[in-house]
Amino acid sequence: MKFRRVVVWFRNDLRVHDNAPLFTASQKAEEVIPVYCFDPRWFEDTELGFPKMGSHRVKFLLEAVDNLKESLKDLGSDLIILKGNPEEVLRDFAIEVESDAVYFSEEVTSEEKKVEAALEQGLWKKGIKTESFWQSTLFHLEDLPFPISQVPEVFTQFRKECEKYAAIRKTFPVPGNLQAIPNGIAGESLPELKAYGLEKQNSDPRTVLVFAGGERDGLKRLQTYFWKNDCLKNYKETRNGLLGADYSSKFSPWLAMGCISPRYIYEEVKKYEKERKKNQSTYWLIFELIWRDYFRFIAKKHGNRIFQLGGIKSNVDKWLRNEDLFWKWANGKTGIPFVDANMRELNATGFMSNRGRQNVASFLVNDLGIDWRWGAAYFESQLIDYDVCSNWGNWMYVAGVGNDPRENRYFNILRQAQQYDKKGDYVRTWIPELQGIAGFDIHIPFELSTKELKSKGVNLGSSYPHPLVKMRAYT
Ligand SMILES: Cc1cc2nc3c(=O)[nH]c(=O)nc-3n(C[C@H](O)[C@H](O)[C@H](O)COP(=O)(O)OP(=O)(O)OC[C@H]3O[C@@H](n4cnc5c(N)ncnc54)[C@H](O)[C@@H]3O)c2cc1C
Repeated sequence: MKFRRVVVWFRNDLRVHDNAPLFTASQKAEEVIPVYCFDPRWFEDTELGFPKMGSHRVKFLLEAVDNLKESLKDLGSDLIILKGNPEEVLRDFAIEVESDAVYFSEEVTSEEKKVEAALEQGLWKKGIKTESFWQSTLFHLEDLPFPISQVPEVFTQFRKECEKYAAIRKTFPVPGNLQAIPNGIAGESLPELKAYGLEKQNSDPRTVLVFAGGERDGLKRLQTYFWKNDCLKNYKETRNGLLGADYSSKFSPWLAMGCISPRYIYEEVKKYEKERKKNQSTYWLIFELIWRDYFRFIAKKHGNRIFQLGGIKSNVDKWLRNEDLFWKWANGKTGIPFVDANMRELNATGFMSNRGRQNVASFLVNDLGIDWRWGAAYFESQLIDYDVCSNWGNWMYVAGVGNDPRENRYFNILRQAQQYDKKGDYVRTWIPELQGIAGFDIHIPFELSTKELKSKGVNLGSSYPHPLVKMRAYT
């Protein structure tokens, strides 16, 4: 029996390809009503005074929602925009349009789960069914070779068992034409950045890539990285880079908001392996996507513990909560050029390389001893690819309170700088006040004499800060 009308509530699945709730609704209902809801709680300030969702992220989100609206229009439908708490406004909307059911994709973390539960309850009381779909990972939850409570605490074990015993499901097709939204059903207009007290920032010319939200640009990025520029075959060798569009895939912002599906990426890797080349690099991109899966399943297994001080290890509270030090880190003013360059890139563009993230996170928790949750919250605000599980999972890992078999995750910043930015080009890009210092010396202005610095136009303590901590030897 077909439903007469089903509301599809889009969340972090802002796409029409490989979208389980949308495709299933298109099969099971005579009418599908796609909805997106802007939840005001996303835009509140954190206890440290910065917004939970900063302007880079909001801009990317607005573009992604706008593009989804366009794609749905191309399919004959539209996207209804709601504003308010979904458990209230979406519930009221579903009641008003006399929907038989509401379909949506399942999330794993507490805030999202609470909303799901309240919505389900509110709709159930009115006799409206709800169905949630698992769709954010490569491996489907139901295909894991262990129950969620038994997800291995060590990544390698998780990966090996999944690779051996679980198959990756095929993507869902884009639904055929959808019905037009019936007359009289309307939503609100797409909000603007300033509605959330945020300002539009011009794209920084130094950005590794001009990131635009939405399925169209996510798919375009894959076409460019895999097929046009043929980068996948070298991914493993280049993935630790810092400068330029193609050292890594840059898929993460689109993955985080669901503009591109990981299973679609997987299928394209397989196609590339058949048509172009199969090697360690092509496998490595899938390997990294399994990391992404892993953090999601670990979050589902451990619930709220991933946000707590002791993480999933329940260690003691050894952390400092010094706002002055924290803001020096956040603003890229620690006096350690490699750290500052990365933080400035993040602030200016909303993106930072994986190598950079590991270094700045390690510096905050290991060298400054600051509460790791402050760092994670700052990343949450700034990163255009913020993903609740990957972010908090990686931070737990670096802070030594996650599921890492190695106890000490200390990154020697200067050794890392020597390995990944030997000539200092990365720092030179992001810290113009040090530009005059040649070669690797740009990483160690604090080791140069006042005379040398003066000849390069640098005055430590005035044009660039003294280091907050003495760095460990790097050779
Ligand atoms: C402290 C810290 C915080 C992080 N926060 C986030 C976050 O909020 N969102 C996010 O997507 N990634 C996060 N990462 C992981 C990683 O840095 C980014 O996924 C990666 O840099 C994105 O660039 P890319 O798409 O070019 O990656 P590529 O190297 O091209 O990798 C391909 C994809 O694999 C996945 N991936 C790669 N590395 C990781 C990893 N370590 N953990 C989980 N997934 C991974 C991502 O989906 C990525 O898009 C964090 C890492 C650290 C150390």
